[in-house]
Amino acid sequence: MPNVNNWHLKRQMQYPHEDTRPGRQFGAVFDINRCIGCQTCTMACRSTWTFNDGQEYMWWNNVETKPFGGFPQQWDVKITTKLGRQKWAGGKYKGKTIFETPDGQLCEEPLGFAPKKEEWRFPNIYEDTASGTCGSGVSLPVHENFFFYLQRICNHCTYPACLAACPRKAIYKRPEDGIVLVDQKRCRGYQECVAACPYKKTMFNSVTTRTEKCIACYPRVEEGEIPRCMAACVGSIRLSGWVSPPDKAKADNPLDYLIHIRKIALPLYPQFGTEPNVYYIPPRWVKRPFLLQMFGPGAPEAIETRTNPDKELKAVLKLFGTTKRTIERFELKTDHIEGFDGDGKQVVSVPLKEPFYERPFHDVANSAYRFNEP
Ligand code: SF4
Ligand code: SF4
Ligand code: SF4
Repeated sequence: MPNVNNWHLKRQMQYPHEDTRPGRQFGAVFDINRCIGCQTCTMACRSTWTFNDGQEYMWWNNVETKPFGGFPQQWDVKITTKLGRQKWAGGKYKGKTIFETPDGQLCEEPLGFAPKKEEWRFPNIYEDTASGTCGSGVSLPVHENFFFYLQRICNHCTYPACLAACPRKAIYKRPEDGIVLVDQKRCRGYQECVAACPYKKTMFNSVTTRTEKCIACYPRVEEGEIPRCMAACVGSIRLSGWVSPPDKAKADNPLDYLIHIRKIALPLYPQFGTEPNVYYIPPRWVKRPFLLQMFGPGAPEAIETRTNPDKELKAVLKLFGTTKRTIERFELKTDHIEGFDGDGKQVVSVPLKEPFYERPFHDVANSAYRFNEP
């Protein structure tokens, strides 16, 4: 009998453990449309957590160029090919997940594969490589030839495949915030998690012979701060916080608002079945079948809403990248939006309209003339 509820799939599914959701779940929304591929996030994580021996190829945060890029190489092409073509109907997933057999039974182990060593060599292979050559006269809404940046960290999944596969029970999901961690003392480096994680976000350290992964910057999150990769983001594309299941969604929580209320932020490859907790606002210029496979059936509607935002949605999108504190609640005012942290303290106030100042040609106080270009 299916034993857990996966709301991304709108159905129950098989998973080797009980359905025990954490008290609250760490998560994030990334707006792909705003990313400039600068890799500042990647280096922020690297300079904080992964600069020791054996971590040379560990990029807990990476930004890859789709459709061809991937770290490790072709990670998603390989796992989606293994899973095979699957179906959605009326927003509900009709196919199998990586935990299930075609007749809906629990697999002995999650469907996966172990990347070869050489596939971890290039963190940014096919950077800025588009799908084909670009002709003249391309315009929105969809470009025949496209590329976009996909920002990737561990998804701190509700049903982690890494955890399900670990024979040592070294991987655990924290009940207080849903962050998924590897207990370095229990890990023996069998790398079952590396094969099982469909997103390939557990990484083996050949010096310590243990597996490591993104820790969601939990020491910062515990203090109400946002992770390093979010704080450093140059494009202000990232907003981290708390994600509720749909029946507990709070309309004034910015993540719940974007995910549940406006439905513009979607999970990456929901068909895998892990219920990932990093959500993406899809890129509007990309061919729809590609996005449907990557983000599920909500992609066209999400793009439509993102393209024509009303006042409230526009305001919430302005909260991205405005504060190092975790915004747990927002309030929309007539001309600005306010964000509040977990203590109820106001941590940000953003005007809805950028103030515009016209400077006088003759600045008498400073005895200067300003020759503004038209
Ligand atoms: S993304 Fe991979 S490593 Fe992270 S929790 Fe999910 S299954 Fe585990
Ligand atoms: S959340 Fe922290 S540990 Fe995870 S990728 Fe970002 S900076 Fe690295
Ligand atoms: S820092 Fe932000 S804009 Fe730059 S690559 Fe990372 S996610 Fe994209």
